[in-house]
Amino acid sequence: MRARARAAVAGLALAAALAARPISPRVAVTRRVASMGTTAEVEIVAASREDGLAASELVVSELRRVEDLLTTWRDSPLRRLNEAAPGRDVEVGAELATALRDVLAWAERTGRAFDPTVAPLVRAWDLRGAGRLASSADVAAALAAVGPGVFRLHATRGTAARLHAAAGIDEGAWGKGYALDTVARRLAAGGVRDARIDLGGQQLALGTGESGAAWEVSVADPRERGRGVVTLALSGLSVSTSGNSERGRTVSGVRIGHELDPRTGRPAPDFGSVTVIAPSGLVADVLSTAFFVLGPRRGLELSERLRREGVPQDALFLEDDGGGRLRAAASPSFSRHVTGVDAGAVDGVPAPAASSLTRRESR
Ligand code: ADP
Ligand code: MG
Repeated sequence: MRARARAAVAGLALAAALAARPISPRVAVTRRVASMGTTAEVEIVAASREDGLAASELVVSELRRVEDLLTTWRDSPLRRLNEAAPGRDVEVGAELATALRDVLAWAERTGRAFDPTVAPLVRAWDLRGAGRLASSADVAAALAAVGPGVFRLHATRGTAARLHAAAGIDEGAWGKGYALDTVARRLAAGGVRDARIDLGGQQLALGTGESGAAWEVSVADPRERGRGVVTLALSGLSVSTSGNSERGRTVSGVRIGHELDPRTGRPAPDFGSVTVIAPSGLVADVLSTAFFVLGPRRGLELSERLRREGVPQDALFLEDDGGGRLRAAASPSFSRHVTGVDAGAVDGVPAPAASSLTRRESR
C-alpha cells in the first residue's frame, strides 16, 4: 500500500517535471564559421542533432550567399557596381537593387547620419588599411561623391548605376543586419524556431535557448570589449552595437574612429557605444550606426521619432563619464529587455523592477 502511494507520488513528480519541459527533447548544436569578415557563431536548438545540423547548414549557406552578393572585399555584384563606368546601368539583380533602395531610404530617414554611399570617405581615411589623416581637400573631394544622387536605381528592373566616378556603396554598416533578416526568413520557412546567430557586433535571437528561456545577450563595456556590463534577454529580436573600440585606427598618435559622419566627412566623436534592439536586423544595424554618429541626445530623439512613425526599436547609449564609470541613456521601453546590470561599472540603466534583476557587483 505504502509502496504504491510512494510510486504514485513519484509518478506525479515525474509528470510535473515533464510538464515544465517542452514536449520534445531539445538538442543544442553550435557551429563557428568564418563569415562576413568575422567569426559567425550559430546556435540551434532542435528536436534532434540531425535537425540542428540541418538548420545550422541552412544558416551557413545563407550567410555565404549574402556575403557573395554584398562583399566589396572581392568580386561580387556590389563590387562590380562600385567599379562600373559612371552613368552605365549594370545588372545587379532584383535582390541587390531592392536592398540598395531600402538602405538609401534609410539614409534619408536618418538625415544621412547613416549613408551607404560613404565609401569614398572610407577610402579617404583609409579605414580598410592602416588609416590615414585625410586633409580638408581629401575630405572635400570625397564628399563630392557621397550622398543623394550619386547612384541611380531601378529596383524592378534590377539595375543600378554610379553617377560619379568616385562613388561607391559601403556594406559595412548594414550587410550583417541584412543577412540576419534573410537568415531569419530561411529559418522560419524551414520550420526552425529556436536559434541564435552572433556576427560579432550584431546578433539575431529567435525563439528560446536550450533551457527554454529567452536568449541571454551581454552588452560590452565600450572601453573593454571582453567585459559585459548589461545583460539582456531577447527573443524574436536582433541586437546591434556600434562603437569604436576595436575597429578604429591610430595614425601618428591620433585616433580615427571607423564611424564616419557622412555630412561632415569626418570621424564621429567617440562617446562610448550604442546598442539597438529591433525585430529587423537591418534596422538594428543601420540605426546603431546612425545613433552612434548622432550621439546620445540626438540619437535618442531620432529613436523616439522613428518609434512614433512605426519603426519598433530600442536604444541604449553607454557613455564614458571620464571618471572611470559608464553613464547610460536609453529609450523609455529599453528596460523590458534588461535582466542584469553590473552596478559596479555603469549608472542609469533603466530596469523593469530592481527586484527582478540579478545585480552583479563589480569585483
Ligand atoms: P561594425 O562594423 O563595428 O559592426 P557599424 O555597423 O557601425 O559597425 O558599421 C561601420 C562600418 O560602416 C565602417 O567600418 C564603414 O565601413 C561604414 N560606415 C562608417 N560610417 C558610416 C555611416 N555613417 N553610414 C554608413 N556606413 C558607415
Ligand atoms: Mg551598423
